Amino acid sequence: MRWAGQSTTTTTPAPQEPLLPLSGLVRTVRTPEFAGITFHEVLAKSALNRVPGNSSMPFHWTINPYRGCSHACVYCFARKTHSYLNLDTGLDFDSQLVVKTNVGEVVRRELSRRSWQREHVAMGTNTDPYQRAEGRYRLMPDIITALADSGTPFSILTKGTLLARDIPLLKKASSAVQIGMGISLAIIDPALAHAVQPGTPSPKARLELISRLRDAGLPCGVLAMPILPWLTDDDESLDALFGALAAAGATGVSAGALHLRPGAREWYLEWLAENHPALVGRYRRLYRGGSYASKEYRTWLSGRIRQHRANHGFTSGAQFFRELQPGPPGVSETAATATVRPAHATDAEPTLF
Ligand code: SF4
Repeated sequence: MRWAGQSTTTTTPAPQEPLLPLSGLVRTVRTPEFAGITFHEVLAKSALNRVPGNSSMPFHWTINPYRGCSHACVYCFARKTHSYLNLDTGLDFDSQLVVKTNVGEVVRRELSRRSWQREHVAMGTNTDPYQRAEGRYRLMPDIITALADSGTPFSILTKGTLLARDIPLLKKASSAVQIGMGISLAIIDPALAHAVQPGTPSPKARLELISRLRDAGLPCGVLAMPILPWLTDDDESLDALFGALAAAGATGVSAGALHLRPGAREWYLEWLAENHPALVGRYRRLYRGGSYASKEYRTWLSGRIRQHRANHGFTSGAQFFRELQPGPPGVSETAATATVRPAHATDAEPTLF
């Protein structure tokens, strides 16, 4: 396999690494190009994941080639899933990455089953498929090719500008199946973005990616979540965000307030205490009902979002997770997002792997 020949400094699990339940582990790898990151390469038995029947997600299947995410967003809801591996939901989630190195061949095998109905497959629902590791492992090209070859429509949501590498492939795929593209971008201020999402490409780089996708003739919706109370919810910030997205050519924007579910809540509040201590009490009051900001706040914010969206010419929300049905080839520009809650939006179901 192509990844087998890559340079490593460690090839076996160190005894102190808490990877007791990690099945299919082939080797553990550290490499100078990814300082601070440990890759746990596994051979997956399956790749297509069925979304639980009680989920409100508008799709039934997902593929997640990685577990853990070096984008390291402090509010990431998927953090909790690392506890299922006996890894912690903080630094381990950011730096102990599980890589399904055989995911491409497993996907192709699963898609070839006669029982496969070619339902829409969503990627980027739990961890980011174009996080930095993808530059090393190059798993997405095989997945995209397998989906397109099998006639399966799909969507990708990412913060990773590595996606640009695969634009020609995505363009080719879009002539065979319907695809939806989404970029996650909610913070325009580069310093704040770096503080909250330290491992992600800059807002400017993500805006450029939107433009490159549009220039290639692909649609590109934006998931502008989470809007952070008292940090990015003022009119000036929202105007700057929607203005920049419009200038970049985004085809739609969905936005919403920060969710703080267990597994993300403690990390975000710790970050807030260090960086904006004056806001901690206000956040505790705003989120005293649980994972969601108060209804009054959400109603107020949705009104501001509608206004700013209209001001910048957006007529609809982002449209990349539509439950596409097998149909004529082409690029979908319609999809629903009101109920979509991927990890990038800070709120996803922990079983979506
Ligand atoms: S929110 Fe998305 S990009 Fe950020 S750490 Fe989680 S999975 Fe990665």
